Amino acid sequence: MLISVALPSKIQTSLFMTIAQERLKDKSRNGLPKLALAELAAVNLVRKQGPLSRTDLAELLDVSRASVTALAGNLVELNVFEEVGHGKSEGGRRPRLLDINAELGFIAGVDVGATSIDLALANFRGDILEKRSEPADVRIAPEQVLNRVIQLIVELLEKQGGEEEDLVGLGIGVPGPVHYPSGMLIEPPLMPAWDSFPIKDYLRKKFPQTNPAVDNDVNIMAIGEARAGGGKGIDNFIYIKIGTGIGCGVIAKGEIYRGSDGTAGDIGHICVDYNGPICHCGNPGCLEAVAAGPAIARRGEEAAMSGKSKIMATLMEENNGTLTAKDVGRAAAAGDQSANMIIADSGRMIGGVLAGLVNFYNPRAIFIGGGVTNIGHCLLSTIRQATLRRATALSTRALQIEYSKLKDDAGVHGAIWLAIENVFLQV
Ligand SMILES: [Zn+2]
Repeated sequence: MLISVALPSKIQTSLFMTIAQERLKDKSRNGLPKLALAELAAVNLVRKQGPLSRTDLAELLDVSRASVTALAGNLVELNVFEEVGHGKSEGGRRPRLLDINAELGFIAGVDVGATSIDLALANFRGDILEKRSEPADVRIAPEQVLNRVIQLIVELLEKQGGEEEDLVGLGIGVPGPVHYPSGMLIEPPLMPAWDSFPIKDYLRKKFPQTNPAVDNDVNIMAIGEARAGGGKGIDNFIYIKIGTGIGCGVIAKGEIYRGSDGTAGDIGHICVDYNGPICHCGNPGCLEAVAAGPAIARRGEEAAMSGKSKIMATLMEENNGTLTAKDVGRAAAAGDQSANMIIADSGRMIGGVLAGLVNFYNPRAIFIGGGVTNIGHCLLSTIRQATLRRATALSTRALQIEYSKLKDDAGVHGAIWLAIENVFLQV
């Protein structure tokens, strides 16, 4: 499905013809040409919707065919667009298609999790060329974690035959509240040493040609799902991450919605039980305190110790006296009634909050990701039931509730796209 963009007014692209040659000399810090607003809109359309013909572009940008011919000509001349074969004929000659020139530079996407670093190098079109994952501890000093990130990026660049200066974009997701304009974490509970640490400046010292973009981990997952996963072509959806905590990324009109301060979607601290356990935020009965991975594991341990579940008691013995949410999932898959009840309770509470979000926001889809989705389909089916039962009929008529299509890769895909969307915006 093609989605059009609204431009402020009809664009006078003829002007660009005369200045295109001039702009070849006037490059940004990363060596990429500076683009005019209309050109940027055309580039973003092709990025999101794949190769397009000039006729498609004219229609989507709502400008004349002649203007698009001039505009596309400039972008081909600037090496941003390339011709990639022919589309379907609508009567006459088959139209030539325009796509992003994949060779214009490398893009790195980094997903820093609480216990891991996932990193990928992509071409300028966003296709992943190399990927790397390794365990990490984000509680240590940010310099140490970021030095490792830098080292991995350099290694991947070398493997692809690139130099450090060929990296033109860098996106990174971190597990905590991010003030997006400055790219700083603000009082992150999981990684206190990173509070107000200048991540962008630190990375830019090593890669001065880039304009690193830093965002919250759930936001980059939502962006990944939007650009490369199940959310392609869906204007409004939400992405829920269920892991150690519960968070949500909001896609509105095809773009991430961060709110006024960057904290939109922080649904883990919505109260679902005023008499519930105290959350690490200090309040009782937050959704993540009663329904995320640690709560599922804790309830599993209680069931094992009280003799309600033999399977979980055996698993707990094998695991040196502890259980994980995944173990509870294994017990549920083996038919354990207590384990199934624990997962169903968790799904009902999450579904109850999602129903509220559906009534409030009316998304077309909800994608669910994060480590806890590995516990199986029982969780998804109870979340689905609870959401559909509680939300209004019209809002659920075409609502899709699915596990993330990109699974554990949503973060790196999103970090790459975040970088790509910032690549022409630097000065
Ligand atoms: Zn809380």
